[in-house]
Amino acid sequence: MTVPTPLIAGNWKMHGTAATIDEARKVAAQVKGTSPRVAICPPATLIHQLSEALKGSAVLVGAQDCHCESAGAYTGDVSAEMLADAGAKLVILGHSERRAGYGETDALVAKKTAGALRAGLEPIVCVGETIDQRKAGEALAVVTGQVRGSLPPEVAGQAFSVAYEPVWAIGSGLTPAVAEIEEVHAAIRAILRELFGAASDSAPILYGGSVKPSNAAEILHAAEVGGALVGGASLKADDFLGIINAL
Ligand code: PEP
Repeated sequence: MTVPTPLIAGNWKMHGTAATIDEARKVAAQVKGTSPRVAICPPATLIHQLSEALKGSAVLVGAQDCHCESAGAYTGDVSAEMLADAGAKLVILGHSERRAGYGETDALVAKKTAGALRAGLEPIVCVGETIDQRKAGEALAVVTGQVRGSLPPEVAGQAFSVAYEPVWAIGSGLTPAVAEIEEVHAAIRAILRELFGAASDSAPILYGGSVKPSNAAEILHAAEVGGALVGGASLKADDFLGIINAL
């Protein structure tokens, strides 16, 4: 079985100005080698500047969303082609903040994922249950449904990852028990196998939600955890490096 190369991706969300690039420089100065792969996903306004600043380093630059079309009359939107042109190599799609705040459905996330692949970007497709869904015993059904609905056929044979991010764990300081993470990751792996065959074994399944230097080792060494999507703790170089170095 192919073992995925782990990916640690930082999601800066709507944080960061030109001054914040210094934090990314500090990360890049410490990241050597090819495993884990490390990415920083700043706001779209910083993608070009950040990719210039990190040129020649091992740290990749990613985006946090894209439109599904390559161009058109979509005021305020940015296409995957534009993000690639600015220097992005990856893109986070279907984050719960976009699903909840902008009504993004699995079908739209699947279209965006196809758009990202068309532009040569590596999608990080986010899924995760709410606290009510977990309490109702629906976590596995919700997450596997999102995986089926959010990954288009174009994913077959391409580089991509899935990020399991329980909505209730994001920014809350709460995390599932390791056994709960392992249960969901195993279910996601089984769906990927079913949908895309053994080639998808190389796709890492990331965990996201309140990952910090203090809990990173336990989470990152859990079965089928192929890295992390990190929000708050990716904004400070020391914290992000603490997570990267926990692998
Ligand atoms: C996220 O929003 O993708 C995330 C994981 O946030 P945090 O690490 O802050 O919980």
